[in-house]
Amino acid sequence: MPDQTRPRILAVTNQKGGVGKTTTAINLGAALAELGERVLIIDLDPQGNASTGLGISARDRDNTTYELLLEDAPLASVIRQTGVERLDIAPATTDLSSTDVELGNAENRVFLLKDALSSEVLLTYDQVLIDCPPSLSLLTVNALVACDAVLVPLQAEFFALEGLSQLMLTVRDVRETANPGLRIEGVVLTMYDQRNNLSQQVEADARATLGELVLQTRIPRNVRLSEAPSYALPVLAYDPASKGSQAYMELAEELLARHAKRKEPA
Ligand code: ADP
Ligand code: MG
Repeated sequence: MPDQTRPRILAVTNQKGGVGKTTTAINLGAALAELGERVLIIDLDPQGNASTGLGISARDRDNTTYELLLEDAPLASVIRQTGVERLDIAPATTDLSSTDVELGNAENRVFLLKDALSSEVLLTYDQVLIDCPPSLSLLTVNALVACDAVLVPLQAEFFALEGLSQLMLTVRDVRETANPGLRIEGVVLTMYDQRNNLSQQVEADARATLGELVLQTRIPRNVRLSEAPSYALPVLAYDPASKGSQAYMELAEELLARHAKRKEPA
């Protein structure tokens, strides 16, 4: 009998582009799958990088997250298997870029993803990761409304913390209106370079400002992570011994441990 409890839903969000959201969605997803979790990635970025990076060809994207949100396509009809065991994806195409305009002021417009996920097929997963677009658009708000918690990749670079306050305000808004249980699961430092003073400075600032929210695991800058998508593979399949693979396994373990700890009775 498969476990029929609701999966944990994490939105991978930061309105800055190029900070490692998609890399984290793909590789954290693969690492969780490696640890035995059944994982669904939901590609909510019109660029569809997570879909391409996991080998879903454009031809195999008849039903996508666009149809899921705007045309009531059932979740089961959107899901594709990837080459990785226990890792599935709901792919995206550029169609999704018109969502903000198409939805206009529709009353339920922030609940579209949440509604679409109230599907039996969701219960066959343990973990859902939503790869968000680089903006605080309606798509991102849909992710914040539908998820349990937010995982924020933070690139160890100048101005890294600047955009964060806007994201935190949006999270608070959504918590006060549409999703009272919404939490920040954690902030994960990405493209970290141990030998670089700037990386260390960003880490120190982040830990001083955000405290416990900053996860212990740091994702190093690792060329294997940037190469893997062109082979349509997560880094764990492309180069399991790489620093990138090790870091995402560590991140998966840290998140599972945090989750288990939270579930312990007080
Ligand atoms: P986002 O989804 O936030 O826009 P991506 O995950 O697409 O960011 O990452 C942006 C670019 O940086 C991509 O080319 C990706 O391959 C590369 N990249 C991401 N994380 C790392 C890393 N830890 N080491 C090296 N390259 C990385
Ligand atoms: Mg991306």
